[in-house]
Amino acid sequence: MNIGIVGAGIAGRLLAWQMIKKGHEVTLFDKNPLDSEAACSFAAAGILSPLAELEMAEPTIFELGTRSMHLYPKLIEELDYPVFYRQIGSLVTAHGSDKVELNHFHSMLRHKLSDCDNYVQNISIADKEPELAHMGDGLWVTDEGQLDTISLLNALQQSLLKKGVQWKEQVEVQAIEPGKIKTATDTYRHDWVFDCRGMGAKKELPLRAVRGELLWLQAPDIKIEHLTRLVHPRYRIYIVPRPDNIYLLGATEIESEDYSPVSVRSSLELLSAAYSLHKSFGEARIIKQVVNCRPALPDNLPKVELKDGIGRINGLYRHGILLAPAVVEQMMIKFNQAMGAHNEAENAVNS
Ligand SMILES: Cc1cc2nc3c(=O)[nH]c(=O)nc-3n(C[C@H](O)[C@H](O)[C@H](O)COP(=O)(O)OP(=O)(O)OC[C@H]3O[C@@H](n4cnc5c(N)ncnc54)[C@H](O)[C@@H]3O)c2cc1C
Repeated sequence: MNIGIVGAGIAGRLLAWQMIKKGHEVTLFDKNPLDSEAACSFAAAGILSPLAELEMAEPTIFELGTRSMHLYPKLIEELDYPVFYRQIGSLVTAHGSDKVELNHFHSMLRHKLSDCDNYVQNISIADKEPELAHMGDGLWVTDEGQLDTISLLNALQQSLLKKGVQWKEQVEVQAIEPGKIKTATDTYRHDWVFDCRGMGAKKELPLRAVRGELLWLQAPDIKIEHLTRLVHPRYRIYIVPRPDNIYLLGATEIESEDYSPVSVRSSLELLSAAYSLHKSFGEARIIKQVVNCRPALPDNLPKVELKDGIGRINGLYRHGILLAPAVVEQMMIKFNQAMGAHNEAENAVNS
């Protein structure tokens, strides 16, 4: 089949990868240049945390996220380029006066998942992160992990190009119709078309933008290995460790379609919370500031739809990296069913 996919964020790239592996011909359209990091996916901290996210999310997110955790190691192995991936569990902690928040967090997980105790352990934070011993107690969510999103997106891009995907960069798509992808000047014909435009699909879907701000810190004096969340009544943060003493500090969540630089207020909140977790963050260097908008639907759940000749993956909100392998798998199941039905209908006509 000749497949057209619009949008080269995590959803579009991963869908292209699964399609090309099945032997289909794939054309991937994106309005940005090939080496651009403007897609929301490039902003992501790469947290793979289905259980800890369950505190505020629906069980569907946990189920899809758990499926993705199962799929990720194989996916990373398939790609010809290195992707930083670590699965040693995540930590959740709080300052002494906020321990009530930590208890609330734990009871929410227990309430939403009956066998929660199989995956969440009460620990002394010092057992996992000696430099955070002053935090006292905390939770260790045993199966969680993180990956370097930029290396994943780059590895997907290189692997797709090597397999012969046609990458139409700097092509702004105006309309997606069954069998057709239209720009201002051209119409491209495909057997099947897929819309993975994130916020770019806002004319077709009731999407809203949720602004996220994130800081990259380099802190040679700090040694933290685990993805660590600090729960707090007002300023919740996470610290995501990367190689070379780099720590991603995030992230704000603001209901606004605003791509302007990180605000002073957000910087103050994020950095103060990080400093309260580890005093050596005071000497860290801010090496990058990241802003983007998460594409969210009214129910904050992902949409995976193959209807009236158009496939759509969208609404990945704050979990796009976590959910992508599982939602793309769902799309591939729908696609194979649709192709089966189509072939049966053709056979019936021919016989
Ligand atoms: C600060 C921040 C931190 C985050 N951290 C995490 C995290 O730790 N873990 C996690 O799982 N998720 C995280 N997320 C969420 C995640 O980034 C998103 O859910 C995900 O990137 C959405 O991916 P997507 O492929 O749907 O959209 P996008 O990445 O936005 O991709 C859409 C693509 O479509 C293209 N496009 C749009 N319109 C057109 C058009 N008309 N023609 C051609 N091309 C078009 C765009 O150029 C873009 O490349 C975070 C988000 C933010 C902002």
